[in-house]
Amino acid sequence: MDTLTALMNGPLSPLYCCIGDPVVGNPTQYMIEQAFAALGYPGRYVTIHIPAKDLEDAVKAIRTLGFAGANVTTPHKQTIIPFLDTLTDSAHLSGAVNCITRGEDGSLIGDNTDGKGFFRTLVSHVPDWQERTILIFGAGGAAAAITAELVLAEAKEVVIINRTEERAQALVQRMQSISRTTVRTALWNGTYPINEDRLIVVQATSVGLFDEEVVIDVSFKTGLTDVIACDVVFNPVKTKFLSLAEEAGAVTLDGLGMLVEQGAIAIEDWTGKSPDRLLMKSALEHAFSAR
Ligand code: NDP
Repeated sequence: MDTLTALMNGPLSPLYCCIGDPVVGNPTQYMIEQAFAALGYPGRYVTIHIPAKDLEDAVKAIRTLGFAGANVTTPHKQTIIPFLDTLTDSAHLSGAVNCITRGEDGSLIGDNTDGKGFFRTLVSHVPDWQERTILIFGAGGAAAAITAELVLAEAKEVVIINRTEERAQALVQRMQSISRTTVRTALWNGTYPINEDRLIVVQATSVGLFDEEVVIDVSFKTGLTDVIACDVVFNPVKTKFLSLAEEAGAVTLDGLGMLVEQGAIAIEDWTGKSPDRLLMKSALEHAFSAR
């Protein structure tokens, strides 16, 4: 059904939004609207600037106006939790919500599709992921979401490595004893060497965002034949981290794939339909080029 048919004959278009501060420059609306249209789904999606002081009222408005779902971005991913009705395991364990769906009773369910987006991308490219140790650089929101998903899926071993050691320890404490996954920290003093095969290395810090020249302090041994290097940073798509990893022989997975997949999971949850990932990816690339 198209949006005009929905308007003239009902039921009215389901409404969705992205809330955050800042939100100018966030390409989600553009990606989701194109995916909705290609699915023939009459949903409408808007981007709304919500400062922290208005967050509680914004969630009330989402309820009252009957929004069918929402995305949540910085700085509300954690602070929105008390205003929601229930959380998925992913949101509960990561302590962050980036996606809201409506229960059949109208309740607001907080989910975290960032980690799920990463995980689906990983599993589809690395069939033996469960046999590999996974190093995660960073201990912020993205790292927590990814670690939560890996722990829920019973990864073999996850090692958290962060500039601020206490933050890595706090994340490990939250993730320990949830499943059979071993979760531990490793120290990051000076250059961290990646010198063995069979690793999955995840760059989950914000280093490299909008900057092609900067990279976290790691070195890849040349001649690696079986390392998977992933970056959460999606702009630029080919980060310096991924370039260094590729030069050393690693297979790389970029943050754009994760960004598309987290949006696709949200659309699946909202509509029950599987969107066109390639279309979503090109929508994002087009949006980034307009900046
Ligand atoms: P947070 O602010 O929560 O965490 C930032 C992390 O980066 C911290 O671990 C911080 O370490 C580390 N860091 C920052 N600067 C440096 C530095 N100079 N050297 C070493 N470590 C540093 O951010 P998020 O986790 O929310 O976001 C991280 C990135 O992930 C962003 O670029 C974001 O755009 C991206 N992202 C991508 C998604 C995707 O779908 N591709 C989804 C969600 C996020 P410390 O604790 O020491 O400060």
